Amino acid sequence: SATAPYCGRFAPSPTGPLHAGSLASALASYLDARAHDGRWLIRIEDIDGPRTVPGAAQSQLRTLERVGMHADAPPVWQTRRTDAYAAALDALTANGHVYPCGCTRKEIADSLTHLRERHRTLTYPGTCRDGLHGKPARAWRLRVPDGEAARMRFEDRWQGPQHQDLATEVGDFVLKRADGQWAYQLAVVVDDAASAVTDIVRGADLLDSTARQIYLQQCLGLPVPRYLHVPVVIDAHGEKLSKQTLAQAVDDERPLEALARAARHLGLQEAATAHSLTRFYEVAIAQWKARWVERAQGGAST
Ligand code: GLU
Repeated sequence: SATAPYCGRFAPSPTGPLHAGSLASALASYLDARAHDGRWLIRIEDIDGPRTVPGAAQSQLRTLERVGMHADAPPVWQTRRTDAYAAALDALTANGHVYPCGCTRKEIADSLTHLRERHRTLTYPGTCRDGLHGKPARAWRLRVPDGEAARMRFEDRWQGPQHQDLATEVGDFVLKRADGQWAYQLAVVVDDAASAVTDIVRGADLLDSTARQIYLQQCLGLPVPRYLHVPVVIDAHGEKLSKQTLAQAVDDERPLEALARAARHLGLQEAATAHSLTRFYEVAIAQWKARWVERAQGGAST
């Protein structure tokens, strides 16, 4: 079958400066794109208004420039893409995949406390599936399938075979929130398709979202990209680096040191010893290609 030309992307949320964890994800997606002679894009995921920090996107973009990861197009900003999200929600509603939900957080929490012992579930119980029962619509939820159809399977290039049961492990999830905010799950799927992204390379903290995104792609009739989730960077306390754990910003005055750390995290020891940015990328791309492109294509032909 014909394969679309490779396109990858790095999609940071502008909640703070890049830290060692986000730099490792950025580097992995950049190397995978270059190792495939593909395109590489940057998308600023700034739709989560309350979490967006003013100036953070500019700082992330500047750091990517300074460490030598140049995108092949100007960045996409999610706050300018809301018409596309609305069109996708309309299409899903027209196909019966989406329903309005009138439950408050408290109502959901109460019904779950009540259900938990018997059903051991933490998922939305589907109260509004058959109608709002006179309540005003607060959010829009995607109806996940039941039974065998709920069991999503996919192959992750780094993590191996993955599976998740959307009915028992996730439940009907929100696409547009009560406060009018678009959910990450919908935005990411719509934007990746609009940019013709073929390969998603990102941190393993997002592995848990992937089945939802694949299901949404199927509901919208969009192609399903390939996935590679890199291990998350852990701090000295065993916690994932994030703004919450006060992860240190990447020092973009010393790009080679930051890149060397990210490379070591990705198992690219040789690249980590490079003495110039040019040499770093030469070695890192070659190493990445040998490990994740050529070896993966090897097998029967070798
Ligand atoms: N914006 C998301 C994050 O920073 C990443 C989205 C993605 O790569 O799919 O966690």
